Amino acid sequence: MPLILCITTKVIVINNTASVIPRPEHSISRSNISESALKVLYKLKKAGFESYLVGGGVRDLLLGGKPKDFDVATDALPEQVRALFGNSRIIGRRFRLVHVRYGREIIEVATFRSHHEQAENEGQALVEDGFILRNNVYGTLEDDAFRRDFTVNALYYNIADFSVVDFTKGMADLQAQTLCMIGEPELRLQEDPVRMLRAIRFAAKLQFGLEAGLKQQIELQGDRLDLVPAARLFDEVLKLFLSGYAEKTFYLLTEYQLFQHLFAQTAEFLEQPDNYTKRFVSLALINTDKRIQIEKPVNPAFLFAALLWPAVHQQSGLLQTPDHPALQSLLEAGRDVINVQLSQIAIPKRFRQMMIDIWVFQARLAQRRGKRPIRLVSHPRFRAAYDFMLLRNDTGEDLQELCDWWTRFQEVSEDERHAMCKAMGGPKRRGGKKGS
Ligand code: ATP
Ligand code: MG
Repeated sequence: MPLILCITTKVIVINNTASVIPRPEHSISRSNISESALKVLYKLKKAGFESYLVGGGVRDLLLGGKPKDFDVATDALPEQVRALFGNSRIIGRRFRLVHVRYGREIIEVATFRSHHEQAENEGQALVEDGFILRNNVYGTLEDDAFRRDFTVNALYYNIADFSVVDFTKGMADLQAQTLCMIGEPELRLQEDPVRMLRAIRFAAKLQFGLEAGLKQQIELQGDRLDLVPAARLFDEVLKLFLSGYAEKTFYLLTEYQLFQHLFAQTAEFLEQPDNYTKRFVSLALINTDKRIQIEKPVNPAFLFAALLWPAVHQQSGLLQTPDHPALQSLLEAGRDVINVQLSQIAIPKRFRQMMIDIWVFQARLAQRRGKRPIRLVSHPRFRAAYDFMLLRNDTGEDLQELCDWWTRFQEVSEDERHAMCKAMGGPKRRGGKKGS
């Protein structure tokens, strides 16, 4: 993300903890805020509520970037927000948020929350009693700032006067390009170990350094990621690797010894002298980043297939014998690897099947006799499997001839395809050619 900081030191201190940076002294312009977000902000204000843009939206605007979404914070309760916007619905049980929808864009509106973890737990216990829950969970603007993760994520853009409100010295940290935890890193990472992954994600995306205390605590508390529910880690892993900075993120995750808490099976191969795993995963992630940059879709199944390939590759190689062909070995190894992986990350079923298909296809692509290629090329998984094979070849597996053949096969006419198949020989009688 380009760094275009426009921050001066002219700020007004409104109380002991907060500074207000007036409109002329910061770089946020309404023209860079989505129309939907502005509508929400203005409507809340008009109804007499406090209304701020907050989180990554404010951070990225101040850095001259293009926010991927806009979050709004307000003192209006979820029911009050819901009543104001016809196109909205309340989501979440523990922390109720309102999603306001405009076409494909969703603006998330959250009522100011207090930081107190104990209050949150009490709130959770008293979830049946909405009134008590709200009393315990909601707070003031200041509370809301201090319960956030990093100082640069706790800046508020006030739609009432277009100023930026900073309780946590977030502006200074933006300028210093440093990620600082709000409060004690030791405690805040204990409260929520996912903040370690968030720190890595933002460090990669923003090219920020981590403040020393945070660094140290990540090094000490990595094991706590094992306590995070596997379903939440699935969501976080997607954010880590589908934000356009996956290669850098991977590098940082390994540097901080966190990668093993996400993909233990892959991490085992990272130290091998041939460097295959590191090269393969890096290449896959570089490709992912490129696709995102040109706004091409990235399938999570492809990503997970790539991240787990080194383990599948190794395991299927061990299973393979003349009586146990590559296709069968890949299928069995793939299933085993996925089963082990599920204890760390809950990969949804629809993606699991696609991953198996991509892996098994690696053997099928090697079988070019008879009419098989004609069938394979029109299979819905062909393109992903072909791209996957190119990646293996680029990592140094000896597949150049096979890759060139398939590249050409896709380019030529139907007649030429038949000729190419014919040149490979008739259907094979039994067993499979060694395919991976
Ligand atoms: P981006 O959307 O660009 O990935 P973001 O900072 O907006 O980054 P979100 O996950 O959208 O990240 O969260 C919005 C805001 O909510 C954050 O900026 C932060 O202030 C707060 N937040 C999110 N997750 C946590 C958490 N685990 N602990 C504390 N605060 C959090
Ligand atoms: Mg966000």
